[in-house]
Parts: sequence; structure tokens; C-alpha cells
Amino acid sequence: MTKKPASGTHSGTNAATRFVTSGRNPQTFHGFVNPPVVHASTVLYPTVDDYIARRGRYTYGRRGTPTSEALASALAEIEGTQCAGVALLPSGLAAASLALQSALRAGDHALITDNVYGPTRHFCDTVLGRCGVTVSYFDPMIGGNISALIQPSTRVVYLESPGSLTFEVQDVPAIAAAAHARNATVLMDNTWASPLYFRALEMGVDLAIQSGSKYIGGHSDLMLGVVAANAATWQQLSATVFSMGLCVGPDDMYLGLRGLRTMAVRLAQHYQAGLTVAHWFAQRPEVAQVLHPAFESCPGHAIWKRDFTGASGLFSIVLKPAPEAAVHAFIDALTLFGIGASWGGFESLVIPFDCHDVRSATTWSPKGPTIRFHIGLEDVADLIADLERGFAALAAAR
Ligand SMILES: *Cc1c(COP(=O)(O)O)cnc(C)c1O
Repeated sequence: MTKKPASGTHSGTNAATRFVTSGRNPQTFHGFVNPPVVHASTVLYPTVDDYIARRGRYTYGRRGTPTSEALASALAEIEGTQCAGVALLPSGLAAASLALQSALRAGDHALITDNVYGPTRHFCDTVLGRCGVTVSYFDPMIGGNISALIQPSTRVVYLESPGSLTFEVQDVPAIAAAAHARNATVLMDNTWASPLYFRALEMGVDLAIQSGSKYIGGHSDLMLGVVAANAATWQQLSATVFSMGLCVGPDDMYLGLRGLRTMAVRLAQHYQAGLTVAHWFAQRPEVAQVLHPAFESCPGHAIWKRDFTGASGLFSIVLKPAPEAAVHAFIDALTLFGIGASWGGFESLVIPFDCHDVRSATTWSPKGPTIRFHIGLEDVADLIADLERGFAALAAAR
């Protein structure tokens, strides 16, 4: 399970270093380590000539401030040399929908992975359809065989690896090669691994999407979305963002920048603690399957070993068949795991899930009830003791 160190060298440094150093220019801000939070709309010009020529580094709040530049350039440096630019959006869902809109127009066809984040799927089935884009879904484990599904009008292949409920790990390089051979743009939701553990742009992705509300924010107090583009896609992405008037509030951008500085150490802890808890689940008699990419029981495990340098703290388990009331008793008995959607903050979370009626290209039929966990930054032994209490409640409720 030992992985190569988080790689992708840029200016001679590893990604973990760039989380700390990137996008910083203390000379510009009187030596202060962090940039100021610039609340801004109007930018004043010294003369009317300057105004007519729009002379100056900044022209209007929506079009960029020292705060947005600091965050976007930090994220771009972390993505590495393939990154031509980063767009900041008000949420991860906005990042996904905006990236899709930038790459598609009426008459196009989009291929979307069947394990895609639910609200992204909803966007594809509603707004994209109204815009005249046809959408079809494909088996996340399809690999290079995606060639057979690519039509002359296919302009986009959208990936999410691993899926954030069921954790299929996709063969991104093979899918990207097949897509590029037919001139399709490759989009990927890289929220789970982040560029620390999966170098999306270097693996053939053209537009790499992250929900900054998760590990970038890291404290469950931020909504933020990020799209990193390569040279082939940056111009169209940034033009689409500007024309739609999308921008992020300065305090939220600052929280994103602040979260980035500790993200590599937080993720390392989520990774190790997640592995420890997942191993503990794997030897419990109540558990049928552990859906964690670092485990052989997870579809695409070999691809995770080949392409990823780590894992986040989010994974699922399949229980052996148990009545719904017993599963609810298990979850309700937990005191350190909050019941709630989202993830990536400092706290542990748990939700039951069922996606059998959501999938259209594949069949989701697990051997028993399914539960997703986010392993937070609490002491791991305390978390395991809490889960032991949960299993006692499950046994009592049978
Ligand atoms: C949460 C999430 C999103 C959406 O992010 P928001 O910031 O909540 O809009 C997108 N993709 C994945 C995989 C997510 O987990």
C-alpha cells in the first residue's frame, strides 16, 4: 500500500510544498504573509484617457481582484505545468455545470459516467437537454472501450473517479486517449483525490473540476468551486465564466486560500485514518464489502494503485443483509459521526445511500445495505470505539 510520494514537480517542488508556497507574493502586500481580502466592485482610473483605454491591472471587481488572483494562481501552480488557468465558481456544482457549458453547444452529444455526482447528473438531464445537447451515460469501468460509444457529434466525455458513493476507479488515461482520438474534450470531477493524489491534467484530462467546499475549505464553512483548464480549453472556459458574470465573494475566496495551506497535511491524516478504519471494517463479521479504492474489493483498485498517490477519507461499506431498522439503529448510535451530506471538513460523517434507481448504464445491486463514511480528524481509536457501539446497537435491533 506504500505509494510513491505525491508527485508532479513544478519549479522543482512537490505538490505538498506548493500547497504552502503557491500564489504568495508578500512583497506586494508590505511583507504580510497573506494577501488582503479585497472587497471591490468599482476600480477608479486617474484620468479619462486611462479609463477609455482600461489601463491598469484591475478593471472591475467581477473581473478579478488581488484576492481572486492569489487563490486562482495558487490553485493553478498546484495543478502543475499543464494548467493554463483556473476559474473560481460559487460552488462545486457550478464548476461542473460551467465546465460542461463551456465545452458544449446545441447539437452536441455528451458521454457522462454513470456514477456521476447526483446534482451534476440532474444538470445534464435538464439544462443540457434544454440547450439542445444529448446526453448518454456509460459504465465507469469501460476503459478504452468507450471508443464504441463515441458518435461523430460527441464533444465531451465526463469522468468522476472514484465515484463519490460507490468508488469505482476509472482508467482515465485510456478513456482520455480514446476521447482525444475523436476530438472530444475530457472533463473530470477530481474532488475526491484532489491534485495532491491524482494529477488529472497530466493524466489526459482537459478540464479538472473540484468542489472547493470539500477539502480545500476543509472546515465545513465554505461553498466554492474550481475548474482547472489546460491550454486547449482555457480560453473557452474563461470566456464562458466572464460572459455569465460568475464570481466568488472575497471572504469565501480567502477561506479557500487559507484552507489550501493545510490541505496536504489534513489529507495525509484523512488518508491514514480512513485506511485504518476501512481495515477495521474489513475484518468485521457484519461487513460484506469495503468500497475503498485502496482495497482489492473496490472496482478499479489496480488502477488506483497505478495512477493515484493517495486516498481521501471518504469511502463506503456494504453490510451483510440487515433490516433497515437495524441499519438506522447503527447510525443513530454513533456519537462522533454526524449524519449529513457533503464531506471534506475536519469532522467525521455518515449517511446511508441507495443508488439503484439512479443508474441507467449499469446496475447497482449490492449484497446488502450501503453506508458512506467520511473519516475526519478525530482520534482514530475513538472513532473505532464509536463504530463498535454502532455495531452493538445493530445487533440489538435485529
Ligand atoms: C460535493 C460534491 C460536488 C458539488 O460541490 P458543491 O460545492 O457542494 O456544489 C461535486 N462533486 C462531488 C464529487 C462532490 O462530492
